[in-house]
Amino acid sequence: MKSRSVYRAQYDHQAAAAKARARRGVWVAAALYPARESAKGAALRVPSATGMPAYAPAGEFEAYAARHPEGWSLWVRSVAGEGPVPDLPETMTVRVTSRGDGPGYSGVGIVTVTVEARCPMCGGPRGWDTVKPNRFAEDGEWYTADTWENPCGHLDLYPAVLQESRLRPLPRPATRELPKPPPEIEAPDPSSPAGIILAAAQGWRGMHAAQAARLLDEVHGLTVEAERIRAELRVRKGHMSAKAAAYLLHCWGDS
Ligand SMILES: [Zn+2]
Repeated sequence: MKSRSVYRAQYDHQAAAAKARARRGVWVAAALYPARESAKGAALRVPSATGMPAYAPAGEFEAYAARHPEGWSLWVRSVAGEGPVPDLPETMTVRVTSRGDGPGYSGVGIVTVTVEARCPMCGGPRGWDTVKPNRFAEDGEWYTADTWENPCGHLDLYPAVLQESRLRPLPRPATRELPKPPPEIEAPDPSSPAGIILAAAQGWRGMHAAQAARLLDEVHGLTVEAERIRAELRVRKGHMSAKAAAYLLHCWGDS
């Protein structure tokens, strides 16, 4: 006898779409696929309703595919109508307790981990927006770990979350570390490369380091300084303001 997936019997696209339409912005489980490619492919087609008429007309649904103990699950939500819906982050960073791996150790430690913002039991969104600190006392010491509630109802236990963070290293952190704002440079020489950039940046809100580099070599013929900025820009993957570039040049000038 052929085995029937419970999931397949339980979910169909028409029903999922109807359920999602009834609660705009809320993610709904739509289907389970044995292969990652099938689930990812479906997730790509849902927004345009390509070959998936349940989600027509195009532009009314969002979708994602997530790991599921029995394969890959497809989740959809309705975005039809006015107003933005909150973005669903890929990952979440939380503090969990760690009780040590050794048999002789019984103390508690707090570890900050980054895990997928998807429930490992069903692939639904984790309660990334419900995370709150929980202070507790143990052996006369105070500790703070995070708690959260998953909308699907599945419970995340700290040992499992810790294990997950170790087994599934994530390519991207949940929060990108923002570059620190450059310290103010005290009275730079206005004819120095840093001074030229700072003077330009004063009247140019949001001036980028790439624009500072162009200013230096195209207007002032300072090609060496411009190249220094561009080299740093490559290291920082394009994230640098003109003011930060001025600060770098200022520091280089001192060394
Ligand atoms: Zn779940």
